Amino acid sequence: MTAHSNIYPTKALQDLDAAHHWHPFSDMKSLNKEGSRVIIRADGVWLTDSEGNRILDGMAGLWCVQVGHGRKEIADAVYRQMNELAYYNTFFKTTHPPVIALSEKLAKLAPDHINTVFYCSSGSEANDTVFRMVRTYWDKMGKPDKKVIIGRWNGYHGSTLAGTSLGGMKGMHAQGDLPVPGVHHIDQPYWFGEGHEMSPDEFGVHAARKLEQAIDEIGEDKIAAFIAEPIQGAGGVIIPPETYWPEIRRILKERDILFVSDEVICGFGRLGEWFGSTHYGMEADLMPIAKGLTSGYLPMGGVMVSDRVAEGLMLAGEEFYHGYTYSGHPACAAAALANLEIIEREGLVERVKSDIGPYLKERWLKLGDHPLVGEARMTGLVGALELVPDKKNPHKPFREVGAAGVICRDTSFGNGMVMRAVRDSMIISPPLVLTHEEADFLVATVEKTLDDTY
Ligand code: PLP
Repeated sequence: MTAHSNIYPTKALQDLDAAHHWHPFSDMKSLNKEGSRVIIRADGVWLTDSEGNRILDGMAGLWCVQVGHGRKEIADAVYRQMNELAYYNTFFKTTHPPVIALSEKLAKLAPDHINTVFYCSSGSEANDTVFRMVRTYWDKMGKPDKKVIIGRWNGYHGSTLAGTSLGGMKGMHAQGDLPVPGVHHIDQPYWFGEGHEMSPDEFGVHAARKLEQAIDEIGEDKIAAFIAEPIQGAGGVIIPPETYWPEIRRILKERDILFVSDEVICGFGRLGEWFGSTHYGMEADLMPIAKGLTSGYLPMGGVMVSDRVAEGLMLAGEEFYHGYTYSGHPACAAAALANLEIIEREGLVERVKSDIGPYLKERWLKLGDHPLVGEARMTGLVGALELVPDKKNPHKPFREVGAAGVICRDTSFGNGMVMRAVRDSMIISPPLVLTHEEADFLVATVEKTLDDTY
């Protein structure tokens, strides 16, 4: 128990929170009226709130707690590192053992053509780094006109100016003159929402060809990179049709532009492979990473860089004017190493691929029979349900889009489970250690929540 939770009842904590704490991505007026949920501690896939309720963390925090909560082994590794060297920077030709060991480990886990990591503290910073890397790379290659980066509408790449610009969240762009110049967006491969007049396979090819059209319109000699999440997470777990990535692969092979696979959600086992791009047979030039790198125990991100880009950019013999005070932070590196050690030792990636992933998927897809569900989809351990007002006309949205999602999300919390609402899709992304029993609880709770919402 924290000091505050011992001393104050929930209401007092909520009032104190409302008085001084501005929450990210939150409507503070309604939050202050209702009061925040106060989470006191967590263990495995279970959260405990200030009222003593046990709640299944169906979102692994924010898509990040791969190894589950309360791993003493990670806390101990961080404690040891903090006693040895709590902080030193990696600027100006200095380094330290944990960042050396982590870099070696990541290079081993990555596909063969990726052997270098640049560190930062979050996924957003990773994509800021990507922004500068791809443009500087082409400068060094003698092609300074190659500056445009192509992203996708409804993609999410973080909340800094670069991340927001690369992402395709129109609400975030509306905050003022965004995206920054030199970013172009193409349509997303969202069959249920935008492509159902074609078969999924036809639509997959159609959506991928938007990239080819954009390259032709803008000019290949002006384009630096294409950035995409293997599966769009924050956009609503948009799992592309099977034809999508093969067609993108064909296009990228024919064109001289870099491919950035944003692995912030899909990396570290979420799709049953170490990286989401490998799940789809894609070869990335750059891979922004964060979240599952430390399972969220400490903030850390990075960009994994292919030999092609590393040789062109890093080894060009000039300084790359970029870096953060906390790039390669020793305690965060120690947390990452301990986390990766658990993922490997417990075979969590393989478990998602051949055990808990298929087990949960089989049960999750059956939720598609519920009268409120227009589509159930899942890959690895990330899934969505599309709520619809009329099952006979499944692509017709609710009159007030998002309202059913919010009701369903809040009801699920009351029923003992966290899920997320994106518009009217209900999202799950549980820790990779979820047991079969917990998966059964998860599905039963979602079913009850749908019944309560219906
Ligand atoms: N990229 C993707 C795919 C993400 O889902 C996120 C966060 O959800 C980010 C980048 C940004 O990461 P962070 O919130 O750590 O800055």
